[in-house]
Amino acid sequence: MSPASKGAAAIALVVAIVAGYLWGRSDERAGRVAPLTETASAKKAELDVYYPATESLGKNEMRVVALGTGMPSVRPKQAAACWLVELGNGEKFLFDIGSGCHERLAAQKIPYDLIDKVFFGHLHVDHMGDLPSFWLGGTVMNRLTPLRIWGPSGGTPEYGTKHAMDLMKQMYVWDIGTRGGVIDFRGGQLDVTEFAFDAVNEVIYEEKGVTIRSIPAVHGLDGAVSFILEWNGLKFAYSSDTIPNKWWAEHTKGADIAIHECFLPAVLLVTKQGFAPLEALNVGTQGHTSPEQFGKVMSMTKPRLAVGYHFYNDFDTQPEVMRRVRKTYDGPLALALDYMVFNVTPDEIRVRMSAVDEEIWPSPPMKKRNPPDTSKVIPFSDFTKSGVLPYPEVVQPIYDEINELYDTDYEPIFK
Ligand SMILES: [Zn+2]
Ligand SMILES: [Zn+2]
Repeated sequence: MSPASKGAAAIALVVAIVAGYLWGRSDERAGRVAPLTETASAKKAELDVYYPATESLGKNEMRVVALGTGMPSVRPKQAAACWLVELGNGEKFLFDIGSGCHERLAAQKIPYDLIDKVFFGHLHVDHMGDLPSFWLGGTVMNRLTPLRIWGPSGGTPEYGTKHAMDLMKQMYVWDIGTRGGVIDFRGGQLDVTEFAFDAVNEVIYEEKGVTIRSIPAVHGLDGAVSFILEWNGLKFAYSSDTIPNKWWAEHTKGADIAIHECFLPAVLLVTKQGFAPLEALNVGTQGHTSPEQFGKVMSMTKPRLAVGYHFYNDFDTQPEVMRRVRKTYDGPLALALDYMVFNVTPDEIRVRMSAVDEEIWPSPPMKKRNPPDTSKVIPFSDFTKSGVLPYPEVVQPIYDEINELYDTDYEPIFK
């Protein structure tokens, strides 16, 4: 086929699909069932895919997006633990922020100035590893308010969230030092709320009709918790990491959506990941929740939808995980993958996959950007300054271009 006729064929195909799609829509309006043609395929694609930033939430609607469903060693298909909860009242929450999830958040096209609340279930790197990049990246993207963090205390103060956040600020002192005089850095503040890890079903957050409670979890060390968010009659429960425990069993009953860890079966930890058998048993059943244990937990919770996460979810592992869960649980179930999206209303829970645009840039801020406070610039030493090649013949025209476009009179720092 010549390039011209190829182009014509492609246009004809697009026209046919769009026409068929529109015809299907009008059929739908008339209450008829569309014939099983490419029209039906187009409708199915529309039903099963969530296109980020194209849908507003209803007044009674909660959207939960899986931004990390895998294991501590991240892979292209699955980042480590992170769940975004968006509510119909405009509020947004991150539960855990594990390694690799930050780019998944960018794919949701949410401006950084709309996300300032992060809840940690515990301080494992697969549940907090992307906090530094989200925190400091958010300042570059114009989050102008402090990042708000909620996390548990530990058995002693040095194992608590507050200590970890203090040390994080020290760890990134160089990063912070570079930004103060260059961007509006108000978003670099951290507002940390540490709550008692052993508080049982106590309120740790209550604003705008949203209540979040914590319950103790059994995982790693003292200082792991699970969360329950309630809003407008909807109940979201999130285990973070835990083995089955009485607090989850008692307090998450009847959740609309219950997200609980469901680890790889011990035998797969041995055969696919090279664990020693005893390591696999310890990690897979005594440190984490095996699929069979997950099923027992969900049989007690009886949620409208049970969601299992925290395993490498592939064509060969999923049937085995499912088979084991089904030994102990026969209710509604989803085994999560990154970008799975759950729309929860009182009437329905809709599960789709989010379309991912690899080309997307992090969303620009909604608030107006302010000029930086240049008095906060930490100067270079004379030594480093002595190495600069200022190239005024190419740099000055760049300044001239911006000054002319934006009616400013800025000058290069290095002349
Ligand atoms: Zn953990
Ligand atoms: Zn974990």
